[in-house]
Amino acid sequence: MKLYELGIAEARRLLASGETSAREITEAVIARHRETASTIGAYLTFDEEGALKLADENPKAVPIAVKDLINVEGQPCTCASKILKGYVSPYNATVIANMRAKGFIPAGRVNMDEFAMGSSTENSALGVTRNPYDLERVPGGSSGGSAAAVGGNVSIAALGTDTGGSIRQPASFCNCVGVKPSYGRVSRYGVTAFASSLDQVGPLAKSVEDAAILLGAIAGHDEMDGTTPREDVPDYLAALEGATLKGRKIGIVKEYSSMAGLDPEVKRITDEAIAKCAAAGAEIVEVSLPHAEYAMAVYYIIAPAEASANLARFDGVRFGHRSERAEDVYTLYTRSRAEGFGPEVKRRIIMGTYVLSSGYYDAYYGRAQKVRTLIRRDFEEAFGKVDAILTPCAPTPAFRLGELQDPLTMYLNDLFTIPSSLAGVCASSVPAGFTHETPERKALPVGVQFICGSFEEAKLLNISKAFEETMK
Ligand code: GLN
Repeated sequence: MKLYELGIAEARRLLASGETSAREITEAVIARHRETASTIGAYLTFDEEGALKLADENPKAVPIAVKDLINVEGQPCTCASKILKGYVSPYNATVIANMRAKGFIPAGRVNMDEFAMGSSTENSALGVTRNPYDLERVPGGSSGGSAAAVGGNVSIAALGTDTGGSIRQPASFCNCVGVKPSYGRVSRYGVTAFASSLDQVGPLAKSVEDAAILLGAIAGHDEMDGTTPREDVPDYLAALEGATLKGRKIGIVKEYSSMAGLDPEVKRITDEAIAKCAAAGAEIVEVSLPHAEYAMAVYYIIAPAEASANLARFDGVRFGHRSERAEDVYTLYTRSRAEGFGPEVKRRIIMGTYVLSSGYYDAYYGRAQKVRTLIRRDFEEAFGKVDAILTPCAPTPAFRLGELQDPLTMYLNDLFTIPSSLAGVCASSVPAGFTHETPERKALPVGVQFICGSFEEAKLLNISKAFEETMK
């Protein structure tokens, strides 16, 4: 086995026994990154010297790829946007400080959709990332670089962020385990904000065990993020012991059963996943999420509204790109933003500004907040009856680069992931099989989503691990 193929748990065993070192693993990852830069293209930048220096200082540490919106002191943080090209972070995000204290080092910055807006990484202004299972296809997004790096063995594991599905959908497309923690489980300090009431950092990894280890390393209270509770973080690795589906109540969503637009192979794999849970002793229970059908509409009001406020700080004055065609302070703002932001980011800022504008605020933003509450209550009610909900992760496997031209079709990728994001609960994406190969389509990985209640990551990981075992 090549060192870059290792997962976190295996790497730690080899590091503990002295069979390898952080430098050797980091060197292997760097060599693999160079070899795949023009094919997979997972990374935007890789400070090789910096990573090796950290490895020498921490010879037992495991290198982790970092999505290019998480600040690492002294490294670029572009959010895959021209507006932040050349920006260098003055400080570490809390997740980076936490993970370094737990034996991980940041190594390389991976591609993403600009400001995490998108589902294919095609909105990156700075590079193309391809799906390691079929180079003509997208890796998903917005954490597409993270997923491609892990799925293509160009990193041991990676950090991504998820606002409406950005860890889970790319994990599904690239055969990774992804975890979107409950809102508040992980500090957002130092993570460039997209939609502050939804954003969470989480792991993309080669196994549920690895995801549990990395989540445990980054999670917890932070004085710098008031949404993180003070309680201790459970031991997520210990939570995997005796992983079982036996006696678990697994919910399947009534409203999803007759849904149009689901790829038949995704449906088959999801049905098989349900059957595997039942065979492993789970009780399958139908639950209802009556307001889930409004989740897309609600998300595309709330997320752009918050984004339009968060992205106001990029004005050419303090960060990144500054227009050379500015005549006065007004044109400095407008031209820097016009030149610096890509089309999807502009679309979101325009939508967000519109729904927040006086006269429309109550009709759109206020109404969306009310429906969000109803969606959260749907989940609370469902979790009164079941331990976890099982759904498809994304409606289709990875699509072709350039295949989805219309923004609305792209948005539909997150149909199954957005409701749990709005509810603030935790969810995972776990590999569930491959599509059958056809003349038009190679065999592509497909994941399923498990959803548990708020701060129930220990249960989520235990169930995800038990499901992973049924796949062996
Ligand atoms: N694809 C969704 C969007 O474009 C979700 C992105 C995310 O989770 N960051 O908003």
